[in-house]
This record gives sequence, structure tokens and C-alpha cells, in this order.
Amino acid sequence: MNNQTGWSNPGYGRLIAEASQSGDLAAFTERRYRREMKIGCCLVAMVFGVATSSLAVDELALRLQPALEAITPDGLLAHIKILASDEFEGRAPGTKGEELSVKYISDQFKQIGLKPGNPDGSYMQEVPLAGIKSEPRMAFSVGDKTIELKYPDDFVASSARLQPEIRVNNSDVVFVGYGVVAPEYGWDDYKNADVRGKTILMLINDPAIPDPKDPSKLDDKMFKGKAMTYYGRWTYKYEIAAQKGAAAAVIIHETGPAAYPYSVVKSSWAKENYEVDAPNKNKDVIEVRSWITLDVARKLLAECGQDFDALKKSAISKEFRPVGLNAKANIDIKQQIHSFKSHNVIGKLDGSDRKLQDEYVIYTAHWDHLGRHPELQGDQIFNGAIDNASGVASVIQLAAAFTKLNPPPKRSVLFMATTAEEAGLLGAKFYAEHPLYPLEKTLADINIDTVNPWGKTRDIEDLSDNNSTLDDMLATAAKRNGRQMTPNSQPEKGSFYRADHFEFSKLGVPALYTGGGKDFIGKPADFGQQKKDDYTAHHYHQVSDEVNPEWDLSGAVQDIDLLFEVGYQVANGDKFPEWKSGTEFKSKRDKTMKK
Ligand SMILES: [Zn+2]
Repeated sequence: MNNQTGWSNPGYGRLIAEASQSGDLAAFTERRYRREMKIGCCLVAMVFGVATSSLAVDELALRLQPALEAITPDGLLAHIKILASDEFEGRAPGTKGEELSVKYISDQFKQIGLKPGNPDGSYMQEVPLAGIKSEPRMAFSVGDKTIELKYPDDFVASSARLQPEIRVNNSDVVFVGYGVVAPEYGWDDYKNADVRGKTILMLINDPAIPDPKDPSKLDDKMFKGKAMTYYGRWTYKYEIAAQKGAAAAVIIHETGPAAYPYSVVKSSWAKENYEVDAPNKNKDVIEVRSWITLDVARKLLAECGQDFDALKKSAISKEFRPVGLNAKANIDIKQQIHSFKSHNVIGKLDGSDRKLQDEYVIYTAHWDHLGRHPELQGDQIFNGAIDNASGVASVIQLAAAFTKLNPPPKRSVLFMATTAEEAGLLGAKFYAEHPLYPLEKTLADINIDTVNPWGKTRDIEDLSDNNSTLDDMLATAAKRNGRQMTPNSQPEKGSFYRADHFEFSKLGVPALYTGGGKDFIGKPADFGQQKKDDYTAHHYHQVSDEVNPEWDLSGAVQDIDLLFEVGYQVANGDKFPEWKSGTEFKSKRDKTMKK
């Protein structure tokens, strides 16, 4: 760990830097401020009086300063080291890793002085889950030729239905383009095709429609151009396939549009997976959901006398119609199911305002990761140090920071470590569907999933796509701290739909989700991008996501400080954060708030 500045609290610099246009002056004032701090509050005010022009900033700075001191690189690292240790076995729900994780986190919440977050007096919300181990077989027959697929190198397949065997026999195969029905864009890939009982094959992401004026770009008016909409997510594709009555939905993997290589699909799916164990045993979802590799898809389509590239091209038109393939699918999935209780861990800091204390701001980070794979050679443990021991460590430190405020914020603040995010945001989904405090009184969810471990940056990335007023608050906080909020640099990845806050958003709660910056102080210009690319390619969802002695968590602290400020402002503010017009979730929120 190397805190480059040598300051124990990276919080001061930002406040002073904001007050001054000159970097040198800021550094000078920071040193001076720290010296004065030891002398007393009056002097602090004087120094601030010199350095700043706005009294409001002085007051805010003074009020937040003791809290921000609780957020430190060493503090973060200490939590990460424990949560990501081999002893925690990769933190799979329902394992010894869960026991150790939920105990550690709830002990921390208790020690910090949070109250039990569950009104039943505990720090836990029980989440009924089922673990499913699948042994899938999949083959396509074309004429008298059979194409057997190799699991998991060629395909993955599973079912969320809680039954011991799933069989799809001799099912017609239909290519349905992107598999999207989006009335607001006048788009319907299914047209009136009857796909009941059939196996549908589709492309990942949302339709990539070129701009009529400049075909080298995507049309901003359709599916938000380059950005991914919810229609591009695999979860959506399986949901609509179920509504259409298909038996199996098979997504053709492509690295670019999926935003991750097939190896990520393989390691995430070819293992025990989890579902919420609903009373109906999930009978309402699609029987088989599957991915196949692009190579297998090309081969299958060629056998059927079709060409993948030509089909893909035809799918970017509103006129596209499903294409029946002269192939039959045979899929058999043997499932070992075990039901168990997993847990969201939740702590609460009561608001100080009698009228507002039953309104809530919530911070979330998932504690779970991918567990261990005994069949792997050598290292078998998915330590998930960045994903997401780092986020949980951040939430623990945020909780500690909030308890240092005197008085506490007007509204109550909830701190939650969710389970089973990696299996499809299940802990967050369960909370959102069974909230312990009403969602219409929940002002915001601020979610942390991975932090920047490579030092300080001038920027912070807005992965919430500027879709609510929370993003404006973040921009203001960043500016106040001499930093800059930058737009999502890869909106095509659909990051907003891929982490826990999305389950809150789906039900209307505005959410904030950020990524570490890329513009590193004192590093070459391409350093940030390089580090991100390296993580995605070599460590994301791999056993190598481990604590690295070269980390510098001072940048993570900068970012958490900003999330602290935004949460604080919401918890103390005059009004509820709101979705901006045109966002997918605004009408849902408006409806809930009217009730
Ligand atoms: Zn994660």
C-alpha cells in the first residue's frame, strides 16, 4: 500500500483544491491546513476563510471532515485482505465463505455502532436461494447430420426452473435476430411468429442500427445509439423469450457486443448457479437459457445453408422477420438442486430528524463472489478482491464515516452487503421485491461494485449514464473537490444494467453507480485504460482477482469520499432525487410516488 501524498486523510486536498485555482497554492494550503488542524477549530475556519470564497463550502468541509477521516487506503485494504483471503473461499452463497463473510460484515456494522438493519432486530435479511448444478447436453440435427456441442467450451445451458431434469426434444430452431420487442422504437423482431416450444437463436446486445446520415456511427435515435439499453441484456432476452412461449433461448456470443469474452460466460455459467427459490419453483421462466460460441453458431448456420454475417445484417432492420432453420435442437439438462438460505447483511444509522428519519438512503455492495472450483489446477479460489471485496470494504468505511457525523444526517442511512449478485443480482432483487423499508421512502441507492486500486485520478466515471439528478449531485461534488465527472466511456457495455442498483431502479428507486477514473495523476495518459483492459482480460471473474501488493487505494478513497458526499447531501437535502425524462424507470417511480 502506498499512499503517495503521505497524508492520512486524502479528503482535505480536494476541498482546498476546489477553493483555489492553482495546484501549487492548493498543495501549500493543504499542508498549512493540516498543521492548523492540530491547533484548533478557530484557526481552521481562518485558514478556510483565506482559501475559500464560499462560506457554504467551509461549513460543509468542516462538517464532513471528521467523517471523511474514517475513509483511508489502509482501512480499505484491511477489510479487502480479510474478505478476499483464501480462508473465505471465494465467498460463494451458502458455503463456509458465506458464513465467514456475513459474520465479518455484521460484526463490523455492530462495532461501528450501526443498528440492526432488519426491524426484526438482526443484521440479516434471509434470502431463500436454490443452488443448481447443471449437467447440460446439447445437440443440433440438420438433416441426418448431428452437431454435438462440447460443454462448456462450445456452449453453456441452464434452467432457473427448480426441477431435476429439463428436456427439450426435437425442437424447431428459429433465428429471431436480436429477439427484441420495443414499441417505443417501432421494433418487433418476433413479428407474429409462433415460437411456442421452439428453440430460438439470437444475437446479443440491442440492434446495432447505423446512422442514416453517417453509417460509420450508430443511430442515436434508435436504442440510444452506441449505449446499451435494457433490450441488449441477456436477462431481457430470456424474459421476452419466456413471454413468447419459447422452450429454449440460445444467445450467440460475440465478444464486442457482449462486452466480455466467452471465457467470462463459461466461468460464470459452468458451475453451480443460484436462483431465488420462489414458492412456484420458478415455473414462469424460460425452460432453457443458453449461450453458444460464435464459431459454433457459424458452423450450425452454415450446415443450415445460412450465413451468420448475412443473417446478422438482416437483423438490423425493422423489416426483419424470424428465420426458420432446418435444424432441430435436443437439449437435456440434469439438475442437482439444493435449497438454502442466504443473507443480505444490513445495518442502519438512524436519522436525526424526527420527521425525516423514516426516509432512507441506501448504500449497497455485493459480498458474494464465485467461490472455488475444485476441478481447477493450482489456484482454485476466486478471491474476488476487486470484485467485490473492495466494494464491501467501501460500504463498511462509509458506515464508519457516517457514524462520525455530529449530528447524524436528517434521514436514516442503510448499509447493505447483498448476496448472489454474481448469480444475477439475486440478493438485491430479493430486497427490492421484499424491502425492509418502503421503496417509496427510499431516496436513492448508491452502489459500489469494484474500486480503482491504481492511485489518484482527476476524473470519476458516471456509469449511471446521467439518468437521474444523483448524477448532477456527483458532478457538483466532483467539481467541488477539484475533480471531474466524465460520462460513461463505454455505454455499449450496459454497465448500469449489470449491478445490484439496477434491481432498485427497475422498481423506480434512483441509483448512482460510478467507475474509477482513467486520468491518473502522475501516470502516462494511457495508464488508466491499460489497467482497465488488463483487468477485464486477465482478472475479471478469474482466480487471479487477488490482493496485489502494488495497489494504491488513495484513488478509491477519493471516489468513496465523493459517494459519501452525495449520500450525505441526499440524506440531508430538501428534495428527493429524480429520474430525468426519457429514462426507462421514471414512469415507474412517478407511479409509486403517487400512491
Ligand atoms: Zn461485482
